[in-house]
Amino acid sequence: MADLLSITEAQSLVVMHARPLPPETVSLEEAAGRVVAEPAVAVVDLPPFPSSAMDGYAVLSADTPGRLRVSGRIPAGKPADVSLGPGEAMGIATGGVVPDGADAVIPIEYVVEDDNDIEIASVVENGANVRPRGGDIRAGETVVERGSALTPARLGALAAAGIPEVRCTRRPRAAVLATGTELRRPGEELAAGEIYEANGLILSAQLEAAGAAVERLPAVGDDEGALRAALEAALAADIVVTSGGVSVGPHDLVRRVEGELGVEEVFWRVAVKPGKPLAFGVREGTLVFGLPGNPVSALVSFELFVKPAVRALQGVPEPLPRFERGRLVGTRRQNPERDELARARLRRSDDGALLEPLSGQESHMIARSAGADALLLVPRGEGELADGDSVDYLRLD
Ligand code: AMP
Ligand code: MG
Repeated sequence: MADLLSITEAQSLVVMHARPLPPETVSLEEAAGRVVAEPAVAVVDLPPFPSSAMDGYAVLSADTPGRLRVSGRIPAGKPADVSLGPGEAMGIATGGVVPDGADAVIPIEYVVEDDNDIEIASVVENGANVRPRGGDIRAGETVVERGSALTPARLGALAAAGIPEVRCTRRPRAAVLATGTELRRPGEELAAGEIYEANGLILSAQLEAAGAAVERLPAVGDDEGALRAALEAALAADIVVTSGGVSVGPHDLVRRVEGELGVEEVFWRVAVKPGKPLAFGVREGTLVFGLPGNPVSALVSFELFVKPAVRALQGVPEPLPRFERGRLVGTRRQNPERDELARARLRRSDDGALLEPLSGQESHMIARSAGADALLLVPRGEGELADGDSVDYLRLD
């Protein structure tokens, strides 16, 4: 099996074919999770004016300590209409505009209020509790870089900097198609030999979490005509993800029918367990993934190969999954030919992450996999990983 591609070779081929989609303008309300295509630049200085960090009194540092006359009050949202004169203080709210003539704010709890005067016992440093104009970012500076996904913090930064809309790569449109004559929907009655269809749901949820707009097609049986019609419709998308029918059996029609529809196969089969019969091809701009039918194989293949494609289509600069380091709990025999991704429970300890492979690692055992937090990489080899060995893992969340 020396001829099989390694995981990283296959990933490189996928990413090489996944060019970022064109940008479009998106309002901030619609932009959560989207990937920024052009740097988003601040419209205003932030803060837009010198503002108070405290409820207190605006003063001139040089007037302190001392007794100051309160000449006015400044709420948030309304600038002072006069500047601060010598020997004066102005009451100011958090976020209020620090008036001309003032250079510091003393918090309310540090003054003694007496009629219309305040008593300040010690020096208030120049600049104390004043947020300078532009101290966070200046107009014209980049708030969010190209290639960044819009997290809540980044969305907030764009809004605060006065940016109403942002250029994002178009969301990849993904079509999901489960194949197999034996598949029924949960809720239907199973006849002899039938099983419930799980992959369409798994893959749709994974695609959506990765940022794609998903169209889930009705499952098709192992029938050339039905498969061709469904694939033809699916190929209008940016990314097609099928499950089942990519092995070597007589009913495994997906690759052949895709070939007849003009899909050029880039590779078939990867030295990975589970998920060996994975097929990847392209037709014009469409990326076409044929995932194996066993639900755990589909799930794992998605994380390794499809998710990076969805991320690359969105212009994420480092689209490949990031493995983390932990320690193996128990022992684990290596597969001589294929790197394995074992489903594992992840625990945190004082000693870092601990990974305990679940019992029931066969690729049809989706119910057992439901207990997994992580995929543990067991590199191919002739030996065995020992208890406590350092291992790479990928979080599933
Ligand atoms: P295949 O890759 O078509 O040979 O399918 C491999 C195994 O996965 C078979 O036992 C199928 O019944 C099962 N399978 C295929 N597709 C699905 C699906 N969408 N949901 C659940 N199991 C599936
Ligand atoms: Mg099948």
